[in-house]
Amino acid sequence: MRIALFIWALVFTTACTNILYVDTHPVLLKRTQLHMGTLVSMTTVAPTEEAAMSASTAGFSEIHRLEELLSTWIPTSELSRVNAAAGLEAVQVSGETLELVRRSIEIADLTDGGFNIAIGPAVEAWGVLDRQQIPSREQLERLMELLDVRDIRLNEKEGTLALAKRGMKIDVGGIGKGYAADRAIEAMQAAGATAGVVALSGDIKTFGRLPDGAKFPVGIQHPRREGAVIAVIELQNEAISTAGDYERFFERDGVRYHHILDPRTLLPARECQSVTIIAKDGIWADGLDTGIFVMGPGRGMELVEHLEGVEAIIIDAEGRVHLSSGLRGRVRLSSESGMGESVR
Ligand code: ADP
Ligand code: MG
Repeated sequence: MRIALFIWALVFTTACTNILYVDTHPVLLKRTQLHMGTLVSMTTVAPTEEAAMSASTAGFSEIHRLEELLSTWIPTSELSRVNAAAGLEAVQVSGETLELVRRSIEIADLTDGGFNIAIGPAVEAWGVLDRQQIPSREQLERLMELLDVRDIRLNEKEGTLALAKRGMKIDVGGIGKGYAADRAIEAMQAAGATAGVVALSGDIKTFGRLPDGAKFPVGIQHPRREGAVIAVIELQNEAISTAGDYERFFERDGVRYHHILDPRTLLPARECQSVTIIAKDGIWADGLDTGIFVMGPGRGMELVEHLEGVEAIIIDAEGRVHLSSGLRGRVRLSSESGMGESVR
């Protein structure tokens, strides 16, 4: 399992620690736990300490429950069972797994195949997190036939999922955390929270406002200067998600090999340093950040401009910042970033 990505793609700019603030009402509670191989940070606003505590516990429990269904690092999870049965049989799965796969296929279509949850065998061949090896061209070519999203067979009526070919593997690493953030927020609301933020590393979902009426400020990390924030944006009832080439990568002979693969070449996608997407839901923001990272700033921004309620901050391979039209005037770019802004 991937352990604690301490380099956050997005950093809260609110000063939060793991304690209760009880001087004013409502109460604001900040807690962190490890789930889905990463640091999960939860900020909860509720009328009382007890309500804040139980709402955040409900949020964490929901993330844990989803991890047991969706993690391909857990051999007994639903998706692991689907992968193990590839080419053999269909597997009965929960509504959550069906929903995540259905939405993933929608995003694959939208991003022209840039986003592809059938990428599993290629992710494994690179082993960016563990073995860190550069696969040969022949090895990658052999995998190509296992990566067709159309070979994922979703049967909504029967509630089953099947993979057509032996060796296929679904990998929801590019979308699962955004989905979990959505579901955690729902659980927190149902348990009495009046506002809050859930951040699974760089995949963040917010609802409501801070006790003083302010929106939730979120900082976007500089892709090349650790700890530096390049831009700040305030959110209310929105999700934000970043895909970057700086979180998980290794270097060989001066070349950076990172974890977002272009499904056409099975090599790390090269046109962006980071892609941040703002959308209503985390599932959407997380799926699109990965898909648009692969598409690159040109085609990627064109897609964003066509999608209602979706905005983007793209940092291209040369370090230029591209903002979608709906973000102009909404984002504060840091003067220290040293980045020129190019507004398309
Ligand atoms: P993070 O994991 O930091 O949220 P992303 O959302 O960009 O970052 O997801 C990256 C992960 O998505 C990779 O580690 C891998 O598991 C998976 N992945 C890699 N390339 C693709 C792709 N083209 N489409 C879908 N998922 C991908
Ligand atoms: Mg993603």
